[in-house]
Amino acid sequence: VTRCDSYQRPIHYLRISVTDRCNLRCVYCMPPEGVDSCSHNNILTYEEIETVVRSAAGLGISKVRLTGGEPLVRLGIVELVRMLARVPGVDDLSMTTNGTLLARYAQDLADAGLRRVNVSLDTLRPERFRAITRRGRLEDALAGIEAARRHPRAER
Ligand code: SF4
Repeated sequence: VTRCDSYQRPIHYLRISVTDRCNLRCVYCMPPEGVDSCSHNNILTYEEIETVVRSAAGLGISKVRLTGGEPLVRLGIVELVRMLARVPGVDDLSMTTNGTLLARYAQDLADAGLRRVNVSLDTLRPERFRAITRRGRLEDALAGIEAARRHPRAER
């Protein structure tokens, strides 16, 4: 059963925020000291997220995007990707990330079934990147993008 929005457009796409935490402190997003993070007891477990995605897939969702905060700071995120990649009906599993940890995880994420990443990047100037994110290094984000691009299954 495919659900439609009020304009009768089919709804195939679900975004899931897996954490409110982030390793950056972008000026337009957070105060310098960060925000009080939700307790782990108050966020969905991976098993609960899988249940939500299975139910959504049964309603016609085929595209799932993981977001945050920064999804790569949540412990065990590769395992969540593996769990969701196995859900019947989900054929496009992707992630939005700031890219700074992506070099470390790109291979494992791809092996687990992630198909696409979207890297949020505000500038290619190192000093400006530092000023906007308050603590990030542009070279880390670029290394993450390169790691994703180098992957054999990457679309050019
Ligand atoms: S990388 Fe994204 S989630 Fe993290 S502080 Fe910047 S805008 Fe917010």
